[in-house]
Amino acid sequence: MPQRRKIAAGNWKMHGLGASLDEARALCAAFPKPGVDILLCPPATLLSRMRDALDGGAIALGGQDCHASESGAHTGDVSALMLADAGASHVILGHSERRADHGETSAQVAAKAQAARAAGLVAVICVGETLQEHDAGRTLDVVTAQLAHSLPAGANATNTIIAYEPVWAIGTGRTPTPEQISEVHTVLRARLPDPGIRLLYGGSVNAANAASIFAISDVDGALVGGASLKAQDFGAIVRALEDS
Ligand code: PEP
Repeated sequence: MPQRRKIAAGNWKMHGLGASLDEARALCAAFPKPGVDILLCPPATLLSRMRDALDGGAIALGGQDCHASESGAHTGDVSALMLADAGASHVILGHSERRADHGETSAQVAAKAQAARAAGLVAVICVGETLQEHDAGRTLDVVTAQLAHSLPAGANATNTIIAYEPVWAIGTGRTPTPEQISEVHTVLRARLPDPGIRLLYGGSVNAANAASIFAISDVDGALVGGASLKAQDFGAIVRALEDS
């Protein structure tokens, strides 16, 4: 079986104006031929400008969400086709902030992933338990149910990446123990329809903890929020992944 190529994905969330594109340019200059895949997911307003800033280099571009329809009367939404048209090759779906802020269900995530596939985008599908669920010992039940219902039929290594992101670790500076990450990844991996699907960890990954997270077996990279905003910080994470 071919090795799963590692990937460092940056989620800029609702951060970034035109001036922030200098960070993307710096990252691009630092990694002309990276040993891992690199993905940046800026807000939709920056997509086409970031495509130009990345200038056909090695860094891929992604959206942070898409609608399940190709077009229509959905004020404020963006379709997968529009993301692809703006230069994206990937889209994050089912991020816990979307699930919490917009009440997105796993069934809706699966429909969006179908739309992403139809538009030729790779879906980065997020799953993860809340602190309450974690403390109640329900982590495995929650993430396996989310995975089962968020994955569309036909998901495979070419069109899908999964990110395990415990909600309580996102933006908090807290991370699970290596044993906890390993346990969840092992359980998720056993349920993937294709063994080539990459499985990322996300939640407070930074330059200081990246190497120890990437040393965990079954971690194929990271989905990074805050530490992806600066080329220097994200670059250190990319280097740790290259060295893992
Ligand atoms: C995220 O937004 O997916 C994330 C993991 O954020 P942070 O790295 O800031 O915890």
